[in-house]
Amino acid sequence: MKRKERPTLLKEASTPGRRGYLPPVSDVPPVPAGELIPQSFLRQTALALPELSEMEVTRHFNSLAQRSFGVDQGFYPLGSCTMKYNPKVLEELSQLPGFQGLHPLQEETTVQGALALLHYAEEVFSTITGMDEFTLQPAAGAHGELTGLLIIKAALLEQGETDRDTILIPDSAHGTNPASAALVGFKVQTVPTSPAGIIEPETLKPYLNSNVAGLMLTNPNTLGLFEEKILTITKMIHDIGGQVYCDGANLNAILGWARPGDMGFDLIHLNLHKTFATPHGGGGPGAGPVGVKKHLAKYLPIPRVVSTPEGWHWQYDLPHSIGKIKGYWGHFGVIIKALAYILQLGYAGLKQVSSDAVLAANYLQTLLKEVYHLPYDTPCMHEFVLSGLRDEQSKINTLDLAKGLIDFGVHPPTIYFPLIVPEAMMIEPTEAVTLELLNSFVTIMKELARLAKEEPEALKTAPRTTPVRRLNEAQAARHPILKW
Ligand SMILES: *Cc1c(COP(=O)(O)O)cnc(C)c1O
Repeated sequence: MKRKERPTLLKEASTPGRRGYLPPVSDVPPVPAGELIPQSFLRQTALALPELSEMEVTRHFNSLAQRSFGVDQGFYPLGSCTMKYNPKVLEELSQLPGFQGLHPLQEETTVQGALALLHYAEEVFSTITGMDEFTLQPAAGAHGELTGLLIIKAALLEQGETDRDTILIPDSAHGTNPASAALVGFKVQTVPTSPAGIIEPETLKPYLNSNVAGLMLTNPNTLGLFEEKILTITKMIHDIGGQVYCDGANLNAILGWARPGDMGFDLIHLNLHKTFATPHGGGGPGAGPVGVKKHLAKYLPIPRVVSTPEGWHWQYDLPHSIGKIKGYWGHFGVIIKALAYILQLGYAGLKQVSSDAVLAANYLQTLLKEVYHLPYDTPCMHEFVLSGLRDEQSKINTLDLAKGLIDFGVHPPTIYFPLIVPEAMMIEPTEAVTLELLNSFVTIMKELARLAKEEPEALKTAPRTTPVRRLNEAQAARHPILKW
């Protein structure tokens, strides 16, 4: 298969003097140069913008859009990050004129409905997670972690417990966990995962001492396994005076069935762009609300939305608060979408979401372990982690397999994470898949295994169907070219 060379339309399409749109001639008298803006700040030469017709511009952006891959295009089984379908009705609801036309600095009395909605969203998240109070300010999961750890720090400072400077984090954790702890000034101690893929109380014990401020735990964890000893673990941390933080990125697996608050967690962040079907990454901002138990509520960021006899009110006067951690009030549009998603499904619907997500993952795991190595061979939650091909002689690694998937129109799953699994491939189908799609994914994964054996070159040189082939990904991340 020879790669088709693409025409170079996107490279340099500008033609001097070409116009897409001509605005009407201004009837405002021009201000003499230098009168409003000092002469030295004025541009001396014209801005070198590309000159194109309207149709050329339209085609340019459409062609770029077609090179992008998202959940609306095809299967996107990214592990941990829950890339599920984002119902379009949610976009419409969040864009209702009464929401979209609001200004964040409007008088409180003119936005009573919006404040009521925010407060209601806080209550709904509390109910789902078993927490007492929520803040909606954090912009994403990692920002929620930062907020939660600042809250832990504030509580420690107030209690004069400055010796508690260590956060325990399992070796299977997402990289944002240790990064957030370090940002807040904590030391990080890594706790090893047991051979069964979970944290064992016995393993945790040696790490417990009076310097421990808390434990950050993802449940289900990033191996897709439920932390079965969670009640013992949270009790052990509480017994030494620590707090337990739940990384809620994997909440999709337990929605409606189990609540982190009931497991003994003191804080949690949610990723609305994962669990509650709001767009992810380039699709829009995320949101990472943080929930806490009563004893930590007074530290939540200001302002808090509170009910007064005069109506809803932003309360700033809270002396224990960690302060503001985000401009304005959080990502309002995202919160509306998540709330609408929850209300549309109701309690039974949320339970169905997690049941279907877990069923889909177990279905794939069972069929794929025939050809791929499954290091933790036990029923999984919403995701599972493979460890390369079963054929140990194969020269084909996980990166080759991931690139091969692209040629079959599938977005590769998360690879080489969690770090404790060699050649990791972390697959999360979500509930938003049909049986037919799961079956064709299995067929494709088995075809990759066949190619690995019979035509390894096809995988070593994949992808072949994309405008660019194998990129230097480190270079692309460190020196991105983001402008024309
Ligand atoms: C996605 C994720 C995070 C970080 O959340 P963002 O919303 O991307 O900032 C943290 N932990 C886990 C387990 C995750 O999957």
